[in-house]
Amino acid sequence: MKTIGLLGGMSWESSAEYYRLVNERVRELRGGFHSARIVLYSVDFAVIEAMQAEGRWDDAGQELNRAARALEAAGADFVVLCTNTMHKVADRLTEGLGIPLLHLADTTAAAIKASGLQGGIETGGTKGGIKAGGIKRVGLLGTGFTMAQPFYRERLAAHGLDVLVPDEADRETVHRIIYDELVHGVVTGESRERYREVIARIVAAGADGVIYGCTEIELLVGPEDSPVPTFPTTRLHAEAAVDYALGRISLPPAT
Ligand code: GLU
Repeated sequence: MKTIGLLGGMSWESSAEYYRLVNERVRELRGGFHSARIVLYSVDFAVIEAMQAEGRWDDAGQELNRAARALEAAGADFVVLCTNTMHKVADRLTEGLGIPLLHLADTTAAAIKASGLQGGIETGGTKGGIKAGGIKRVGLLGTGFTMAQPFYRERLAAHGLDVLVPDEADRETVHRIIYDELVHGVVTGESRERYREVIARIVAAGADGVIYGCTEIELLVGPEDSPVPTFPTTRLHAEAAVDYALGRISLPPAT
């Protein structure tokens, strides 16, 4: 079994989920007394959040590069960065690193493809329908950075996915609830209702599936809150980490 290097703390509320999900997956697959081999490096999120807010992404990349090197030195065989947003600095994070990063957008894209959601558009008019190898649309909920900036959407698009994001007002709502509530462990029915509304609007706009593209979102909503299939990135990433650690999968292709 490979040793999983969890780079967490962004926020620790979701990293705790990673820890649980990774171990549950090992128990499910291996049974008995088996649990995951893990090295955890957990940052002080206040430091990272300040860098995000001030647009100091180079500093954040450097900080995470240091953390990833510490994981490597501690015996991790690969890095699992427990946040979608900070994949913005994935290139800087991996600079000079001797172990791979299990990229969250690649894991998510692989899960969407495996679900059959992609590639099922039928070309118009032909009786019986011709599978055009076309692309269905997937909605993306996450922090304002993840939804509005290209780093995550373009990585998904490189896998052939057509990504829809909420409009500006809805993006603001989704982002605010993450930073004001979820990263502090605050989960309310009222915010769940706001998310359901945003999900309904993105589905009405044409999304055939919805990515819960922030690692705290699964604390608030589940598959039951969406009329279309959902892709919970924390669970998908944790499961992929175990599958890779146990040699069940290779690293998902970068594109
Ligand atoms: N955990 C979050 C994510 O998946 C947001 C917190 C952060 O900025 O890292 O994007």
